Amino acid sequence: MKFSTKAIHAGQEPDPSSGAIMTPIYQTSTYAQTGMGEHKGFEYARTANPTRSALEACIAALENGVHGLSFASGMAAESAVLSLLSAGDHMVSCDDLYGGSYRIFERIMRRYNVETSYVTAGNVAEYENAIRPNTKLIWLETPTNPLLRLVDIRAVADIAHRHNLLLVVDNTFSSPYFQQPLALGADIVLHSTTKYINGHSDVIGGAVVTSNEEVYEALKFHQNAAGAVPGPFDVWLTMRGIKTLAVRMRQHEENAHSVARFLAEHTRVEKVYYPGLPSHPDHELAKRQMSGFGGMVSFQFKGTLADVEQVVRRFKVFTFAESLGGVESLVCHPATMTHGSIPKEIREARGLGDTLLRLSVGIEDIEDILADLEQALA
Ligand code: PLP
Repeated sequence: MKFSTKAIHAGQEPDPSSGAIMTPIYQTSTYAQTGMGEHKGFEYARTANPTRSALEACIAALENGVHGLSFASGMAAESAVLSLLSAGDHMVSCDDLYGGSYRIFERIMRRYNVETSYVTAGNVAEYENAIRPNTKLIWLETPTNPLLRLVDIRAVADIAHRHNLLLVVDNTFSSPYFQQPLALGADIVLHSTTKYINGHSDVIGGAVVTSNEEVYEALKFHQNAAGAVPGPFDVWLTMRGIKTLAVRMRQHEENAHSVARFLAEHTRVEKVYYPGLPSHPDHELAKRQMSGFGGMVSFQFKGTLADVEQVVRRFKVFTFAESLGGVESLVCHPATMTHGSIPKEIREARGLGDTLLRLSVGIEDIEDILADLEQALA
């Protein structure tokens, strides 16, 4: 089955008891058992819920993986993956990444004596050089958040497997529609389903997909033992959102392309970051590794922080807000919002300055999006 067919049908058979074509919201915490150890595969809803099982099967199918697990948030999914590590282990991560990922690595995992080394996102050799005898895992985000650099997943997967390490790819920015990390050698794909997968800015959720049985068993154990599971209604909304993932992604990309070209010509714009522009340093890799360039565009405004503060107040179609991947256009100031938890000197050393704005380009009419940018930047 191809992508959209899976998005609409995978894991979602008509309900056997009524024929309802939409998977019911099984709003229950427990299930009747006919006798000791006799049940229909469901004992307690932290462990498993049929609505959740449908979503997990659907996301696994979209990533071309064997197993999917869904969580109460992207960060809960990250916690589950990080639980594969033990005290004394080490991991390597790209340096440009979601601020919350940096925060959990530094403020939580470090307390448990799990250390992270950060390497220049796009520099493949640096990943290998950072490996130590106790390294267990490599963590990638590609395209990176917020500078939209790319990492060569296949090249880093080769390094990881040569050293017997797991490769984790946070695929939130591309969604499985534009990028398939498992096919490129990743062991685990992770999503904040809050973003493109749900796509309507009304649910917080996360997911992990893997084809590695041992990893799946450990993650499934953690999902039940730690218990950060999503509620059935959130799961159902996410499944409803997924059905239009392909058409949404195509429109996000078309609009983002127009926005990137518009910004590249604008006199108040210092620099545009969008992998779909031929001037982007990773454009060739993006063409090879992704089937589209996505809906995120970042740019540096020519001016001061005070100017940027004025600009963000002027938007009318774009909403000034954290998050991304919903149908509506959002603008965010990473330095004070999504990446505020990264110390200023580290942020700036990574090229994430105070005049950077990140756009999640929505699927409104492009004429309205461009007119809004024009008046806000004027
Ligand atoms: N990964 C990326 C790339 C993100 O952008 C985010 C949130 O912005 C997360 C993970 C965390 O997801 P959540 O906010 O659903 O916990």
